Amino acid sequence: MSDIFDDRKKALEEEYFKRKEREAIEKMRAKREEEEQLAAELAATLPCPRCDGRLKEMTYEGIQIDRCTKCNGIWLDAGEMEQLTQKEEGGGFFGRLFRSSSD
Ligand SMILES: [Zn+2]
Repeated sequence: MSDIFDDRKKALEEEYFKRKEREAIEKMRAKREEEEQLAAELAATLPCPRCDGRLKEMTYEGIQIDRCTKCNGIWLDAGEMEQLTQKEEGGGFFGRLFRSSSD
């Protein structure tokens, strides 16, 4: 009786360890993929001019802007500011900012 129990227990243990092993491999693979993706993202992003963060491209009002993931600074490429001010039809924060800075 104890033999059958031991065999069953052994089988269950083996199954358990096999599953754990598979899970560990899956986790390692997922982690590696995550790291590779992160590295690729990092390579594609620019360093923030203000801090040691990275600029992440995002879309605001249909315009591509670069935003720092650390200090939340927003950086505009040439022409993007004009696009933003045009979109706001002379009003809004960006419009006022652009006009006052060009006076
Ligand atoms: Zn920054």
